[in-house]
Amino acid sequence: MIVHPGKGKVVALCGGVGGAKLAFGLSKLLGSRLILIVNTGDDFEHLGLSISPDIDTVLYTLSGLANRELGWGRQDETWNFMAALEAIGGETWFRLGDRDLALHVERTRRLREGDTLTRIVGDFAKRFEIPATVLPMSNHPIRTMVATADGMLPFQRYFVQQRCAPPVNGIVFKGSRAAVASKQVLSALESPDLRAIVICPSNPFLSIDPILAVPGVREHIERSSAPVVAVSPIIGGKAVKGPTDKIMAELGVPATSDAIVRHYGGLLDGLIIDTYDERDRADLSGQVRVAQTLMKTDDDRGKLASAVLDFADQLTAMAIARNSKQ
Ligand code: GDP
Repeated sequence: MIVHPGKGKVVALCGGVGGAKLAFGLSKLLGSRLILIVNTGDDFEHLGLSISPDIDTVLYTLSGLANRELGWGRQDETWNFMAALEAIGGETWFRLGDRDLALHVERTRRLREGDTLTRIVGDFAKRFEIPATVLPMSNHPIRTMVATADGMLPFQRYFVQQRCAPPVNGIVFKGSRAAVASKQVLSALESPDLRAIVICPSNPFLSIDPILAVPGVREHIERSSAPVVAVSPIIGGKAVKGPTDKIMAELGVPATSDAIVRHYGGLLDGLIIDTYDERDRADLSGQVRVAQTLMKTDDDRGKLASAVLDFADQLTAMAIARNSKQ
């Protein structure tokens, strides 16, 4: 079934910081009609706590609680726990603020009692008064491992402790084959009133690929009649933030939007590229929309979200016109 343009639910695949910015814009426009499927490949156990960095970035960003100065973590943060930990010789390479800590402690307690990550995140989202549905990609542990010249590194050791310095020669999502997508994730993608599937401008290799590696997710997206629209995380051959362009170079892929399209391998119906890259448009196959994709302000986030929905609706209208001709 093709949903009439402008109506229905929207599913967005999302990592941390880059993805959450667009998710914020989408949630302002769509409210409870937005369902986010969030990467948990970055999750890890640290100091005895279960930490879900991308989920928490999404929760803090959508609730307006994100720390905009740091670009991660929670606003109005204090660091007494870290200082006290350091004083007794504890591990401090992964910074945990005092307020942020509450989320990890409560999540860990509930997981140990047998609750699912999906239910826990849903409850946190309600407490933070987030109207959108925030879904972890799976309740099963999937751990992103980065193959480097220094050996296999768990994601946070690579990303935070080693600041993405070691050259990457491969990425593995440990546990993904044995994992299953949650029923909420699959039913969101099967929803009969799905208006669009959005791939946020997250790191395709580290944030979106782990979601697509969860058995069933990619197949459900391929089967869906809703338009699949991605926003390129690359502007002018560079990532706005983080190691996307560095990793692409190390994996022998040019840091271009064209490479992003090829990376997603036929999954996309349309790609949004930045106005700065307008001249690349002619080289791109498939449907392309040019928009300002750099999101510095809340207004930028809203405008990009609106361009994404408008583009998706246009793709749907084109599909309806094609079908009616046949
Ligand atoms: P992480 O999990 O915290 O690394 O966050 P994501 O994977 O969601 O986001 C990282 C990606 O977001 C990088 O590739 C950035 O280039 C991209 N990004 C960050 N901010 C923006 C923005 O304002 N516009 C666009 N187009 N991409 C962005």
